[in-house]
Amino acid sequence: MTSPYSPSAAGFTAPAKKQLGQHFLADRSYIDKIVLAVNPKDDDRLVEIGPGQGAITLPLLRRHPRLTVIEFDRDLIAPLTAAAAPLGELTIVHRDVLQVDFTELADGGQIRLVGNLPYNISSPILFHAMEHAAVIRDMHFMLQKEVVDRMAAEPGSKVYGRLSVMLQAWCRVTSLFVVPPGAFRPPPKVDSAVVRLVPRDPATVGILDRKRFADVVRAAFGQRRKTLRNALNNVVSAAQFEAAGVRSDARAEQLEVAQFIALANVPHLDGDDVPQG
Ligand code: SAM
Repeated sequence: MTSPYSPSAAGFTAPAKKQLGQHFLADRSYIDKIVLAVNPKDDDRLVEIGPGQGAITLPLLRRHPRLTVIEFDRDLIAPLTAAAAPLGELTIVHRDVLQVDFTELADGGQIRLVGNLPYNISSPILFHAMEHAAVIRDMHFMLQKEVVDRMAAEPGSKVYGRLSVMLQAWCRVTSLFVVPPGAFRPPPKVDSAVVRLVPRDPATVGILDRKRFADVVRAAFGQRRKTLRNALNNVVSAAQFEAAGVRSDARAEQLEVAQFIALANVPHLDGDDVPQG
């Protein structure tokens, strides 16, 4: 399908591919706000996910002479290369971002991730990044506003859920600003927002077993209207609730992230009625 919008930020016209979540940023004021929020410094190693037609890439390259981008759409590679050539050193990784090993890419250092993400795979990208949080200094992502609200939500909020807990366990999450549909070509149906995630020092996160933590959080919010005792009846025993100091008559949406971590960290106790694998 061909987009009716032209020209693109990179000065070339390419059809927008819906299946790749292509909504190109076209409003200069929001592009400037993103670059300002990232505020690249000389030694930074910037990695952009989904550069598209270069709306953020080219202004970033003007501020910072080296940039790595990860783009899945073959049709965008040549025009992006040409548009970037006079500005700086652009390394293009032509792959699905979910297949990119950020730890390998970081090569012993730390990277800063930036991206107006393809909304259809934004959660998988976030979870993928969490796997590599130790090599990521920070992330600035544009996402659906509704997703950003869930990411940054606090206990007690209606939108506090699995995404909030899984991300906040590893990162400090700050919603920065809202971007309306009219800032994109073609416009998405919903508002967007830019969010900053800053991974915590891995030594302070305190999760003993990632899989166990993920299982507990998933089960707790799988039936969020139930008490934790009921929602977790195959996952956490009464003795484990007690050992973690967590009330089993609470609901998942009332628990702080640290309490989920405490609950998941309690070892299997003698006499437990709950099998753990
Ligand atoms: N950064 C550009 C902008 O702001 O105008 C484009 C943003 S657009 C919302 C998302 C970009 O991610 C598109 O360029 C799309 O081709 C790319 N993309 C989609 N799926 C991808 C994947 N699995 N891996 C890497 N890039 C992907």
